[in-house]
Amino acid sequence: MKTVKIILVNLCRLALALTFVFSGFVKAIDPQGTQYKLQDYLTALSLQGFVPDAVTLLAAVALAAIELTMGIMILFAIERRRISKFVVAFMAVMTLITVWIFFANPVKDCGCFGDAIHLTNGQTLAKNIVLMACALIVVRWPLLMPRLISKTNQWIITNYTLLYILATSAWCLWDLPTFDFRPYHLGANILKGMTIPKGAPQPKFTTTFILEKHGVKKEFTLDNYPDSTWTFIDSKTVQTAPGYVPPIHDFSIEDQQGNDITQQALHHKGYTFLLIMPHLEQADQSQFGDINEIYDYAVDHHYPFYCLTASDEKARQKWEDMTGAEYPFYTCDETTLKTIVRSNPGLVLLKDATVIGKWSHNRLPKEIMSDKPLNELSIGQLNPDSVAKRVTEIFLWYVLPLFLLSLVDRIIVNIKRRKDIFVSHKNNRTMRKKIVAGNWKMNMNLQDGVALAKEINAACAADKPNCGVIVCTPFIHLASVAQVLDQNVVALGAENCADKAKGAYTGEVSAEMVKSTGAQYVILGHSERRQYYHETPEILKEKVQLALANGLKVIFCCGETLEEREANKQNEVVKAELDGSVFNLSADEWKNIVLAYEPIWAIGTGKTATSDQAEEMLAYIRSIVAEKYGKQAAEDTTILYGGSCKPGNAKELFAKPDIDGGLIGGASLKAADFKAIIDAWK
Ligand code: PEP
Repeated sequence: MKTVKIILVNLCRLALALTFVFSGFVKAIDPQGTQYKLQDYLTALSLQGFVPDAVTLLAAVALAAIELTMGIMILFAIERRRISKFVVAFMAVMTLITVWIFFANPVKDCGCFGDAIHLTNGQTLAKNIVLMACALIVVRWPLLMPRLISKTNQWIITNYTLLYILATSAWCLWDLPTFDFRPYHLGANILKGMTIPKGAPQPKFTTTFILEKHGVKKEFTLDNYPDSTWTFIDSKTVQTAPGYVPPIHDFSIEDQQGNDITQQALHHKGYTFLLIMPHLEQADQSQFGDINEIYDYAVDHHYPFYCLTASDEKARQKWEDMTGAEYPFYTCDETTLKTIVRSNPGLVLLKDATVIGKWSHNRLPKEIMSDKPLNELSIGQLNPDSVAKRVTEIFLWYVLPLFLLSLVDRIIVNIKRRKDIFVSHKNNRTMRKKIVAGNWKMNMNLQDGVALAKEINAACAADKPNCGVIVCTPFIHLASVAQVLDQNVVALGAENCADKAKGAYTGEVSAEMVKSTGAQYVILGHSERRQYYHETPEILKEKVQLALANGLKVIFCCGETLEEREANKQNEVVKAELDGSVFNLSADEWKNIVLAYEPIWAIGTGKTATSDQAEEMLAYIRSIVAEKYGKQAAEDTTILYGGSCKPGNAKELFAKPDIDGGLIGGASLKAADFKAIIDAWK
């Protein structure tokens, strides 16, 4: 069941991440396209005059940045809980918008994927319902998404993604979109784009006739048209099926007299320049000198040059006065012009009606200055970058710097850690103790227990550990095991003690009795004692007091169940356990406490918390100890991790800055495994 849940959550995560990365990216490379779409929405709401263009452009860039960053965060599982809540909120808003466009039909295409993929309003709604369901699944179990990058490097990914997307948008605004998904892309033949292929579906229409007889009006079709006793009143025709619409269906050029010269312009053999300026009033004037030179060049080489605009005569006059333009103006539809090139002005070079060059006014072709004819210049040839090359470039601009930045971050973190260790040695401050403690539980008879203790003692005596080693045994082993251990190398502890000091408590073993065997430690608060022997925080509080009063050090366990973790309550649960039993201790008493975080779902189950999960909890525990006993006491507190810790994962767990060792159950029953875990500190 758990595996199914993990698979489901991660499939949803993947679907969300890929969708957001794709939709964010296609918007980022064409901010103007998204801006036009936003303006369509404003028009549908009759708000077009109220929002300045700069605001819609900024909103377009912001939307791209939010979507892509959100996608990357979900993909890498960065700030899992927060980002999944944000995704739900984002999807809720988007789904509401798509419900509106589905029913009200204010725009034909939602614009989710820019010009890369066009969806009908019904398809968009279906897509958003699926994504909303994915978001709800992810927000329910965010911690089931494994992190793809360590916590320390997460800030780099998020900030670099933001930076990358803003830089990409800025570049594509200054130049042109890196990928052109519109029908006027490089290599597209405009005449071909306008052609309706033979056999393409034709639009279908139905006509109904309204006729009257003896004052009764009735509707008829051609199939049941009545006899002449009926009098014709009216007819209505409706389209019942759309016909094939070619990719280019609104390209037409008119001269100043209103003559359509589209065919003449497109059937010209050879090169043709189109200077595209949807709005002369808003066109950038900074490059007018270069544009005039390109026009002179075209005239000198007899290349037709059309300046296409949707602006009126007055605006044309003004432009001519301001820029000294001598080129002829022609009228074209504003939306078509905005679709052809995302620059105002922008330059397009056609050869036999095929688009072979496109430039924004910021990057007009300089080769023209050489005065050679176009067929001798590289810009006169169709030479688009391959898609693979562009994708690789994007990959290298994004992934390579991320990788390098993460590496630098790692190096800095390591240097800092070494420096901290050096400083703490220099200040003669005791570094907190690293410990590996075994919890044998109820597994061995006395003879086997003594034999195991001997084996562990021998192994540690022969190869000195880099950490404190403790074996915690059942009561009946304590006295005998104490005889075979060199407690300077392997210390002894009990697994429990009574909550009463002494008296008529048949079967109980007091803290004083434990101490008298030679043991130095006692495990208290273990989840198995809480669960099977109903040890409450109050009982544990008594036990802790008695253990400390009898000179025992306490290994105090805390941890949450699977349900609590899935409900995201682990911090709250652990805090309540510490509050209830040990946070009442004095600062002096606290020095004899070792904490062990043991998620119950990981104990004896073979399911280890990931090193990131364990580190996150131990850092949290240290932070609440700091709140209670101060930063220094928190720094000095040894906190262990417990739960299916074994030779194979100990090194990774112990590498985390807040993990000071492990409380080991199953793997402490074999000397070799226990020693291998101890050696993880080497
Ligand atoms: C334990 O019970 O303290 C424990 C950590 O067990 P295991 O290592 O077997 O999960």
